[in-house]
Amino acid sequence: MKFLIIGAGLTGSVIARVLAESGFQCRVIEKEKHVAGNCHTDRDPQTGILKHHFGPHTLHSDNSRVWQFIESFTSIEPYRHRKRAWVKGRAYPFPINLETVNAFFDEQLTEDNIATFLEAKAAPFYTDSPANFEDAALASLGQELYEGFFKGYTNKQWGRDPKDIPASVFRRLPIHFKKDSNVFHHKRQGQPREGYTKLVEKILAHENIQLENGRRFSRTAPTDEFRHLFYSGPLDEFFDYSYGRLPYRTLRFEHEVRRGTFQDCGTVNYCDEEIPYTRIFEHKHFSPWESFPEETVITYEYSHECSGNDRPYYPIHLSGQNSLYEKYVARAKEETRTSFVGRLGTFRYIDMDRAIEEALLAAETTVSCLTNGTAIPTFFHN
Ligand code: UDP
Repeated sequence: MKFLIIGAGLTGSVIARVLAESGFQCRVIEKEKHVAGNCHTDRDPQTGILKHHFGPHTLHSDNSRVWQFIESFTSIEPYRHRKRAWVKGRAYPFPINLETVNAFFDEQLTEDNIATFLEAKAAPFYTDSPANFEDAALASLGQELYEGFFKGYTNKQWGRDPKDIPASVFRRLPIHFKKDSNVFHHKRQGQPREGYTKLVEKILAHENIQLENGRRFSRTAPTDEFRHLFYSGPLDEFFDYSYGRLPYRTLRFEHEVRRGTFQDCGTVNYCDEEIPYTRIFEHKHFSPWESFPEETVITYEYSHECSGNDRPYYPIHLSGQNSLYEKYVARAKEETRTSFVGRLGTFRYIDMDRAIEEALLAAETTVSCLTNGTAIPTFFHN
């Protein structure tokens, strides 16, 4: 029995690996020349620095199974993600924490009184059910912090007023009432020693997996030799955009090689609306076990609406407007031999650990369906 897996990102590769280890033949087709999708990393030819081609990626998870799975293919080096936010000519620790608030308001608050200080700032905007990003940010931090750190950045990032962005996007960001500039607090955090592309290549290196790079999937090509398809490309593309395009933001990157070191952490967010880029990454900070004191690679990130052949990054779920997505889901459920998986196949923004967790579940569910003679689900997530 054979499976066809479309896309050699993390999702497609993990599904292929689990099925291959269960004794099934898998053909994986990937339109790009490289595997690993958006977490593609390679070495910059000029400096040798490990470069996160489509934006930096970091592993962080509380799921020990996911971690063990990754560790069975690569060693994971310690890495704690740190960011700064640039607001009106000054860099602040970010996510917002005690130090940020003290520096921004020129205060000397402590862990004991910061909550009262912020409550007073947020009190005029109080709501226990914020309807959108702006309401959530104002109700949590008040006007000055919202306007300094979030309003301009969110406008640039999403190309929309923060009132149209769901409150859940704001809730992705932690706020700390102590001096703590860690972005993540998961039990396990790190980076694969040789980068993500090498990790995915190892996941795919199995005698039951046949990988074809540089090949686009077409629904009109015969697929009868396959028992089932797993599609991790964009959901709307599978149906030739027949109901119109699902909205995405895409990113444009400008890479530069420079002397020395540019900034003191991996990512600096530029929150002012007048600055056209959203962030600058400095790649060598993402591999702190390697040393490149003389040279550096930095990347300016610009966000804009996705169209044509742009690469889709952030699915846009506007408050109360999901009908197009729901139409595609209903259409997908009519397919009997295809499952839609991963970030693009399900039109969700998911972290890498979640993508791996869901891919493990999808492959294992498939094996039990085959054993029990039940139908393989179209979607595996809730
Ligand atoms: N955000 C912001 N200012 C920042 C960082 C984030 O306004 O300095 C907003 C922005 O709308 C973003 C959301 O918070 O989309 C979630 O941020 P996160 O850091 O999770 O975005 P990601 O790193 O996934 O792009």
